[in-house]
Amino acid sequence: MMMSDLYGSMVFDDRAMAKRLPRETYRELRHCCENDLPLSLDTANVIANAMKDWAVEKGVTHFTHWFQPLTGITAEKHDSFIAPTNSGGVIMELSGKELIKGEPDASSFPSGGLRSTFEARGYTAWDPTSYAFIKDGILCIPTAFCSYNGDALDKKTPLLRSMEALNRQGLRLLHLFGRKTERLNMTVGPEQEYFLIEQSVFEKRKDLFYTGRTLFGARPPKGQELDDHYFGAIKPKVVKFMKELDEELWKVGILAKTKHNEVAPGQHEFAPIYTTVNVASDQNQLTMEIMKKVAAKHGMTCLLHEKPFDGVNGSGKHNNWSLCTNFGHNLFEPGKSPQDNAQFLLIVAAVIAAVDEHQDLLRISVASAGNDHRLGANEAPPAIVSMYLGDEITGILQAIADGREYSRRAKCDVKIGVHVLPKFAMDSADRNRTSPFAFTGNKFEFRMPGSSQSIASVNFVLNTIMAEQFQKFADELEKADDFNACITNIIKRVMHEHGKIIFNGNNYSEEWVEEAKRRGLLNLPSTIDALPLLTSPKNIELFTSQGVFTEAELRSRQEIYIENYCRMLHIEAMTMIDMAKMEIIPAAINYKGDVAKAAKNAAAIHLPADDECEIVKDLAALIHNARQGVQTLEKAVEKAHKLGDNRLGGECYRDEVIPAMAALRKTCDEMELNVAKSYWPMPTYGDVLFSVH
Ligand code: ADP
Ligand code: MG
Repeated sequence: MMMSDLYGSMVFDDRAMAKRLPRETYRELRHCCENDLPLSLDTANVIANAMKDWAVEKGVTHFTHWFQPLTGITAEKHDSFIAPTNSGGVIMELSGKELIKGEPDASSFPSGGLRSTFEARGYTAWDPTSYAFIKDGILCIPTAFCSYNGDALDKKTPLLRSMEALNRQGLRLLHLFGRKTERLNMTVGPEQEYFLIEQSVFEKRKDLFYTGRTLFGARPPKGQELDDHYFGAIKPKVVKFMKELDEELWKVGILAKTKHNEVAPGQHEFAPIYTTVNVASDQNQLTMEIMKKVAAKHGMTCLLHEKPFDGVNGSGKHNNWSLCTNFGHNLFEPGKSPQDNAQFLLIVAAVIAAVDEHQDLLRISVASAGNDHRLGANEAPPAIVSMYLGDEITGILQAIADGREYSRRAKCDVKIGVHVLPKFAMDSADRNRTSPFAFTGNKFEFRMPGSSQSIASVNFVLNTIMAEQFQKFADELEKADDFNACITNIIKRVMHEHGKIIFNGNNYSEEWVEEAKRRGLLNLPSTIDALPLLTSPKNIELFTSQGVFTEAELRSRQEIYIENYCRMLHIEAMTMIDMAKMEIIPAAINYKGDVAKAAKNAAAIHLPADDECEIVKDLAALIHNARQGVQTLEKAVEKAHKLGDNRLGGECYRDEVIPAMAALRKTCDEMELNVAKSYWPMPTYGDVLFSVH
């Protein structure tokens, strides 16, 4: 099939709608999408029918409302198009009502106390700005998921609300600059890292199977030290996987673009071309699903966990985020004229203030038990939020703040709005790769998200905190007598109050941790350190005033996230206990028994057996330690479990269970290095990381 036939063949996109909908209907749909208006039932009926015809032509018989509950994965419930006719036959039908509103049995999805069980009903509502697509022969309709009272029970609803909030405040600001902008869009291109390993190897490790990461495993003799994997030749099997992945993604309208190897062996990266944030978020969920499926077809397992291997580079998801007007003007392009510069600098100032004031929310937006292992370890940003602007932009803003001239090559007065600023020399060579939040020329790259996480959360946080700053700035500027002087004052104030968030140095260094502390920046290493801050008065005020969450919604979310954290750790601890008791300790005992036998045989024929005896003694000590480690862990889990899946339980997992897991792992990893390979009950790190050829 030609690429042009393949691309979008499984998505009811703008092209398909323009072709298949009556002109009036198409125009009304566009109007509703562009102005955030609900569709009338009449219009919905016409669209549903055209959509159904399109799907049926492709052999589809069922449809589903596809949504993102707070468990993180996407959910779907399939219904068929079939409707009985009076004459006893069937016809294929999809009504407008079925298109725009669905009622999944919501009781099994987490609601954090928002929905009492006696009215365990929620509904899903079509997001017409995200296109319907066909997956595995099912028509999937992307939807938002709410309780009957309209409380958000998913990740998409707050994202859509945050887009509206930022659009509203952004337009106010842009209109003050005399722009005719009608709509402000947020664009996102997420880069997705992942590991590919052989399925046969995956199945032999209970830890990978149950938790997505290895809970045991000594370092292989060769890891990522040689850096020969990065941008190296891609293995033929992986090439085939990538080719099929690209094709599958193209079919559903995802513009798969780049692919290369990543730092660690077996690690790769995928990136699509950026698009509007709600679509990007849906597409990223779909991409992860398709990656797993395509990998399985090729006999491999795709690991999306943020830290599958200790001591090896983890997997992140870089959220490239920008603001773009309906005329295609990217607000983070520095521009050429003084007016552009003033607007650009003001908007960058808004980012500085937003990121500094809400460090906690950005940390929370990427908080998960899995990502805790990644942040701050092996080539991942630390759990400290800071931002990189580069020397040039930092220098200009600082000069404005200090009321002095900015001089780089040539002297240049940077009084806002009067003179052209020096051209920003932002080339990729001087990019900072270690910053958690980096300006990369015309967008910001947020590098803290973990590879398995939905990008909805980071983006509704980004949008909301930006909306708040835009609102403040617009309030101030609307009242100002001297527009340019007011901009200068705002920039001065922002640099003075929030300049501490800018850090252009090495974020991976020990010194930065110290320096950040001196600057008073937050350092929240654990998810359970971060989550309680979600409902601080500052954050409740932010989300309610921007119309993104009610206080009840925010509290329910916090409850669910803490619960998820506790549950994940419980599963990990139980899996460790199981593996240690049933596999690892027995393997060491077997080996010890055979070495002891060898010692006895040697002694029987009067040969020295000192070494064998030493080995047996060492193993006995390790076995003893491992058993003790198991007991300590068992006690800690029991204690945490009794406290419940709440903040107290979470703190117990952090303070007692995780250290006990680390201690048990240390002993078992040492055992691995002291037990003959043929006795070891599972594939080693080397076997797993280098499994794909
Ligand atoms: P890197 O050097 O980090 O690999 P790239 O330039 O390849 O970065 O871009 C990475 C991602 O950023 C891609 O998904 C790309 O589509 C996205 N991107 C580029 N421009 C924008 C933009 N204006 N808004 C959002 N994302 C963007
Ligand atoms: Mg990147």
